[in-house]
Amino acid sequence: MIRTGDEYRAGLRDGREIWIDGERVSDVTKHPAFKPIVDIRSRMYDMQHDAKYKDRLTYQENGETLTKFYKPPREKQDWNDKVDIVDAVMKDIGGVVTRVGDETIGEVWSLMDGRDVLAEFNPEFANNVDRHVARVLAEDIFHVSANTDPKGDRSRAPKDQDPDMLVHVTKETDAGIIIRGAKYETAAAYADQAFLKPTVGAWTNEELSDYAVGCIVKMGAPGVKHICRSGFAGKNSPADYPLANKFDEVEALVVFDDVLIPWEDIFFYRHTKAAQFIRSTLHRYSAFPYVLRLLYVADMMIGAAMWNAKQTGLEKLQSVKEKLADLVCYREGINAHLTASIAMAEKSPGGLLMPQQSMLYAGRVFACSQLPAMMHIARELCGGQICITPNAASFKAEGSGDWLKKFYTLNEKWESEDRRKLLAFARDLLNSDYAGHRLTFVQFAQAPHFNHLAAVYGSFDFSGPLDFVRKAADLSDRIGSSK
Ligand SMILES: Cc1cc2nc3c(=O)[nH]c(=O)nc-3n(C[C@H](O)[C@H](O)[C@H](O)COP(=O)(O)OP(=O)(O)OC[C@H]3O[C@@H](n4cnc5c(N)ncnc54)[C@H](O)[C@@H]3O)c2cc1C
Repeated sequence: MIRTGDEYRAGLRDGREIWIDGERVSDVTKHPAFKPIVDIRSRMYDMQHDAKYKDRLTYQENGETLTKFYKPPREKQDWNDKVDIVDAVMKDIGGVVTRVGDETIGEVWSLMDGRDVLAEFNPEFANNVDRHVARVLAEDIFHVSANTDPKGDRSRAPKDQDPDMLVHVTKETDAGIIIRGAKYETAAAYADQAFLKPTVGAWTNEELSDYAVGCIVKMGAPGVKHICRSGFAGKNSPADYPLANKFDEVEALVVFDDVLIPWEDIFFYRHTKAAQFIRSTLHRYSAFPYVLRLLYVADMMIGAAMWNAKQTGLEKLQSVKEKLADLVCYREGINAHLTASIAMAEKSPGGLLMPQQSMLYAGRVFACSQLPAMMHIARELCGGQICITPNAASFKAEGSGDWLKKFYTLNEKWESEDRRKLLAFARDLLNSDYAGHRLTFVQFAQAPHFNHLAAVYGSFDFSGPLDFVRKAADLSDRIGSSK
């Protein structure tokens, strides 16, 4: 069953506890900080019913219409479809949203590959994974990610500090387990549920395995408290900050104050090996949509910079062309990694189709680590006017408006209003507090850089280069196996 936007909105009115700027939110679908992003997620639901997009975004199975976003990938076409539907959504909404469900559901698919590990402890937990993958698809659930604890002072063992610094199990009951702690989560306040699992492996001894817990948490469950950071939407006018006002994906510190997790929502519990497994495979599928989003960020930078060069007549300069070409190399570098990872996709242990892993993870390192440099180039190309241009109100006001129209009109084609709009867009993309926030999001939200490199190291087959050099340098057999 695919949901409508209104059905999604109705699901959010479940009495959930959300706090922002010191106030409790009464209706997340109407609050100014959340409404724009809730509307975008609703639009994505409605697109699946829209005759223009229905066939692109959905498919039929056993007489049911289901979303391609949540279809577990089994063949290359499934991945090509995912690229296509993200393209449809980004172009329809006219911007980039990342944490809207398709990018986080892959974390649960990676548990399907770990069925054996989970079943070792309790076969029911492995069945829970299958049931949840099917449920998300059948009910079109908006699912987010809960990895990162506040962590506290990591020079101390978890048990030597406030135990709530890391999410842990405090009690087992007939109905399920009780958890305490907190996680940072993007989009939690307006999502249906989160997949909660540990980030740190510093508790690999048995004594601390209460911290080794993986489960689904309903975002409106009793004891779940969303304490959100301030929003960017509504702070300034949409005419001046068009991206911040539409695409802010609000993060929260989500506190679990003795939350009951029913047995059927648990994937692993007191199972250190399962926790280690999920850490090593977590982004096996979900890195793909994460990196794909950056293709659209690159397109926004190329578009903003190129329009600016066209407006100002600077596009004919060789040095300007070279900077634009650098942005294109970035864009095509991301495209190449994603395309190759599908072309070389490989079967997973659970029978799904994984994007070729070292290609995908290398693409993530490339896309995330080069973004600051690319933003610098795009900013250079747009010029200093992105930070010194007065706001839309000044362009309208008597007294200042005529002067601004005079100095921002470039020629008969480029009137001042188009120039103002382009500079406002570029400012919000490259220079505003929202732009800075998004840069940090890209660098951290799917783990920090050292972790991205660890994924590359762990997935690359080093035997090729080792054997190549062993032969080319005529090394002896004494130095051991390349594996
Ligand atoms: C905008 C934003 C959105 C986010 N959304 C989500 C979300 O939806 N769900 C979620 O679970 N989390 C989310 N996060 C949290 C994110 O996953 C964490 O920020 C990230 O995992 C790093 O953890 P930390 O912030 O505790 O930093 P720390 O662990 O304190 O690390 C800080 C820095 O210390 C260094 N460092 C730490 N440990 C090591 C190590 N072992 N080896 C080498 N260097 C190290 C690195 O330079 C690292 O970048 C989000 C974060 C941001 C900023």
